[in-house]
Amino acid sequence: MANKLKGQIGVTTENIFPVIKQFLYSDHEIFLRELVANAVDATQKLKALAASGDLKDELGELKVHIELDEKKKILKVIDEGIGMTEEEVDKYINQIAFSSAGEFLEKYKDQIGSIIGHFGLGFYSAFMVSKKVTIETLSWKEGAKAVKWSCDGSPEYEMGPSKKEDRGTEITLYLDDDSAEFAEKSRIEGLLNKYCKFMPVPIVFGKDKVINSVEPLWAKAPSELKEEDYMAFYRNLYPMNEEPLFYIHLNVDYPFNLTGILYFPKLKDRVAVERNKISLYCNQMFVTDHVDNIVPDFMTLLHGVIDSPDIPLNVSRSYLQSDANVKKISTYITKKVADRLEDIFKNQRQDLEGKWDNLKLFIEYGMLSDEKFCERALKFALLKNTDGKFFSFDEYKTAVESAQTDKDKKLVYLYATDPEKQYAFIEAARQKGYDVLWMDCELDSHYVNLLEQKLKDTRFARVDSDAVENLIPKEDRVKFEMKEDERYDLENLFKAVLPAGKDYYVVGDNLGADSAPILITQNEFMRRYREMSALGGGMNFYGSMPESYNITVNMENPLVAKVWNAKMAEVAPQGELPAEAGESASDAEKEEARKAREEVRKAHRSDVEAFAEGNEILHQIVDLALLANGMLTGKALSDFIARSQKVVSDAYLN
Ligand code: ADP
Repeated sequence: MANKLKGQIGVTTENIFPVIKQFLYSDHEIFLRELVANAVDATQKLKALAASGDLKDELGELKVHIELDEKKKILKVIDEGIGMTEEEVDKYINQIAFSSAGEFLEKYKDQIGSIIGHFGLGFYSAFMVSKKVTIETLSWKEGAKAVKWSCDGSPEYEMGPSKKEDRGTEITLYLDDDSAEFAEKSRIEGLLNKYCKFMPVPIVFGKDKVINSVEPLWAKAPSELKEEDYMAFYRNLYPMNEEPLFYIHLNVDYPFNLTGILYFPKLKDRVAVERNKISLYCNQMFVTDHVDNIVPDFMTLLHGVIDSPDIPLNVSRSYLQSDANVKKISTYITKKVADRLEDIFKNQRQDLEGKWDNLKLFIEYGMLSDEKFCERALKFALLKNTDGKFFSFDEYKTAVESAQTDKDKKLVYLYATDPEKQYAFIEAARQKGYDVLWMDCELDSHYVNLLEQKLKDTRFARVDSDAVENLIPKEDRVKFEMKEDERYDLENLFKAVLPAGKDYYVVGDNLGADSAPILITQNEFMRRYREMSALGGGMNFYGSMPESYNITVNMENPLVAKVWNAKMAEVAPQGELPAEAGESASDAEKEEARKAREEVRKAHRSDVEAFAEGNEILHQIVDLALLANGMLTGKALSDFIARSQKVVSDAYLN
């Protein structure tokens, strides 16, 4: 090959360079990964030739060098791999590489914006950042002559002899002015660290900086590795993070190829959740840290790496989800994570209990969002009670079955969300021989709902959702009866002194002379649905309702009896209601009669309210009940304190 050759590159689309630059703007940086990947490939191929005996040379350690001239804006990727003969350059670069890139663009012209950014355009992507690219290459084949190829971005290339003396390929990029960022040392080093950190051939930047000094642990056999190795690898991946709780080493080669290591991080609350911590690799080459279409959503809470050549990269994200291989991979990973957790449950129970508080958010989220995982997790998930004791679901059932089965044969699991605030209720439940679970995870309102569907004949009730007598009804209690107008008076009496802005449902009951005068509870169902909608459960109807409370007035309590008797004595009974309008009355007459009846009711209600307002005992018992529930604040609280001081003075000083 004495003379320089000029030729036309076999591209089908005219002026493909500007097209590439325009469409792939945001992903320009991948050019470096593509070039290094080619260099690594060429090196691996050479090693394979040596291993098979086809190549007799002494190889030594083959490296890939990246050299940058910041001033001249020249970047070189140099390998000592198989190199290319003139025919090969013509075939792979002039015809195949360019035409396949052309076809690719032609095919995806319309949707290129939605195509994931990390597909490989191979060698061709060098033109995204360069005004000129040269290849100098010498093939390993005996008698091969070195070749120099160059192209300035038009579809024309030049090819001729090269002075290159050592085997391998040297790619030189003359960086474009608008790609000046890639002439910065820190930028290139950053990219090499991102994409090439675990490549299987030493990647050397500049004189002697080895980028991939850390071994890709996932590529090793699990049997060769110790716990410390996994922890050290984690620290290397995430130097700023706390130690993880557990790890899993994934390793499968059929029906797809996948390796990886996943770590369970400490998860305390949603605020601390970090996603996009799993990196996807393809044969040790970094692809992306957005794996949300590859693993189930809850798995994105995990950290670590997945390496699989079987995940298609040059497709759009929505396609990825429906890809059969990706589905299999997703199912496999979920199963492996469940297997590992079950194994920990069986063989490291204490360890699991110790770490449970930091793990449960992950498990609960998984159970809520993934049916299959949920079925598995019912075997290893733990419940924790207010004494800090842990139970599996089976164990818990056995433990509370005899005391906590209600009259309808339903198991009632009691739980507290705030042991401080709900202290009195927890104590009352314990006194009755009940166990109380501790559910303080922010997903718990959803979780409790899920468990009610999954566990047979089981219902959950927060300890403060009713009087302890009613939490787990053992027999049909005789309902406390009140006449309708009395119940109405009782309601108005209490509503008059309860804080405004909330809904109250007031009922009288006999809870015993020694029990508190008033019990404030929140209906389990209403409260839970309000919380779920606050968390974004889609049930906004409940979220928009005012908070509502059940006010159970203990009619047997002497203080209540005293207030009630005083009301009977001091408030005149409601006057006779005027008659309703007859069938034949006109609409106006009906309306008038309705109003007249309403007037009488209103007048009586005002009397009850005036009585309530002036009754010190009523204020005092209501405030005490509010105080017990942490609901007494502001002016009501300071009024209560002033009133209490007066009561105490009267009792002790007079
Ligand atoms: P791909 O790598 O996907 O095949 P490329 O456009 O990156 O596509 O490269 C086309 C071909 O050119 C490669 O398959 C390889 O045969 C050859 N090639 C590219 N870079 C090198 C290199 N550094 N050394 C040897 N051959 C190379």
